[in-house]
Amino acid sequence: MITPGDIIFTRKCPFCAEVIKLNKSECASCRDGLPSSSLRKIGTYKCAYAFPYSGEYRKAVLEYKFNGKHYYCASFAEYMKSAVDAQLADCSFDVVTYVPIYGEKRYRFNHSRTLAKHLSRLLSLPCEQLLVKTKHTQKQHLLSLDDRRHNVSGVFSSVDVSGKNILLVDDIITSGYTLAECIRTLKYGGANSVFCVTLCAVIFD
Ligand SMILES: [Zn+2]
Repeated sequence: MITPGDIIFTRKCPFCAEVIKLNKSECASCRDGLPSSSLRKIGTYKCAYAFPYSGEYRKAVLEYKFNGKHYYCASFAEYMKSAVDAQLADCSFDVVTYVPIYGEKRYRFNHSRTLAKHLSRLLSLPCEQLLVKTKHTQKQHLLSLDDRRHNVSGVFSSVDVSGKNILLVDDIITSGYTLAECIRTLKYGGANSVFCVTLCAVIFD
């Protein structure tokens, strides 16, 4: 007979699906190949990210976003915390927020909100929705780089964030236009500082 004491909770490596211990983010072999975090600039603003959006990392993110592997979030948030610790070591934050989706309350799952909530716990910070997306937009990745800036221009609004130092979370940075628009909106809302962190970044050659 199986008793509650016999049940061993496990998690899976997001890159190869091998069963791993609860206190691990990935399996030993995938850990060896993990890239270091890095930094992108969005104008004068900094965006830390954990890994490039390619190969097995891209595959893991797609499984998380579109194939129900929501539990990868625990590992992903740990990578994002490492990226914050390494790339934004001199920065301090009062609050974690995230890039919202249109009709936020009607959707059960915003990938960026879930990452932000996990990350905020690791950083011992509150996670709050500070931005609202006020218009539906076309998906950025379906547009040319030229059209992406126009697509997100003026589509966010902010609550009063006077004097706050904000860590803004998104899942992927591609052109950076979405994050740039969120930063602009938060600064307009009174933010003292805004720094960004994403799980991964599309690297342009
Ligand atoms: Zn693995």
